[in-house]
Amino acid sequence: MIRALLDGALAALLAPGCAVCGALLDRPLDGAVCPACWARVPRFSPPVCARCGVPLASPRATASCCDVCSVDLGVIAGARALGPFEGTLADLIHACKYGRRPSIATGLGRLMRDLRHTWHEPIDVVVPVPLHPRRERERGFNQAALVAAALGPPVCEALTRRVHTSPQAAASGAARHANVRDAFVANREARQVRGRVVALVDDVLTTGATLSAAAAALAAAEPARIVALTAARAELARR
Ligand SMILES: [Zn+2]
Ligand SMILES: [Zn+2]
Repeated sequence: MIRALLDGALAALLAPGCAVCGALLDRPLDGAVCPACWARVPRFSPPVCARCGVPLASPRATASCCDVCSVDLGVIAGARALGPFEGTLADLIHACKYGRRPSIATGLGRLMRDLRHTWHEPIDVVVPVPLHPRRERERGFNQAALVAAALGPPVCEALTRRVHTSPQAAASGAARHANVRDAFVANREARQVRGRVVALVDDVLTTGATLSAAAAALAAAEPARIVALTAARAELARR
């Protein structure tokens, strides 16, 4: 009741717009994005490549992997994403990171809960890919940590980012790998992942350089298995 009144008052006084489409928000307390935009998030539908998670070209495909499975996953057993990094999903991630809307990361994490069930074994622990402390201070939050917190299983902040890497968006494939190879180290929290099935969580999977570097560092803590969950999968157009 109070929440409804507050929503009404905020909507009337501030007339906040959806961070993606700009439409007036009826319920600003529910977050920065309108329900129509959340419903427009593009989703991958099965069957998907067992390794990298992109939809297989033919629904009747007999292979379990796509024929151009080019991402470098390193020790990651498999990766899954909600959908392609385009349209509303790309807009949401941009608004979250650069428009500083942390509630969007929480919403993405909720949408990603179903991805947990695409493995034959349950996920015990989720580990967000960390930002360098300096970048996290600049942004005010780590979107991957907020996504991880909304997924359901316990969160373990097992990794530390020790190198302030240049923005990934500016680097090409080979440069990205050199850039992030030694960027992560397992910290004291990593003891909790030993023998467990771990999902590494990030917002976007592009070349796999960041996730595979994070997984290599996490492997030192001897988890049973490492899988990766991201909100979006980028660079499908090149394949
Ligand atoms: Zn909208
Ligand atoms: Zn593949």
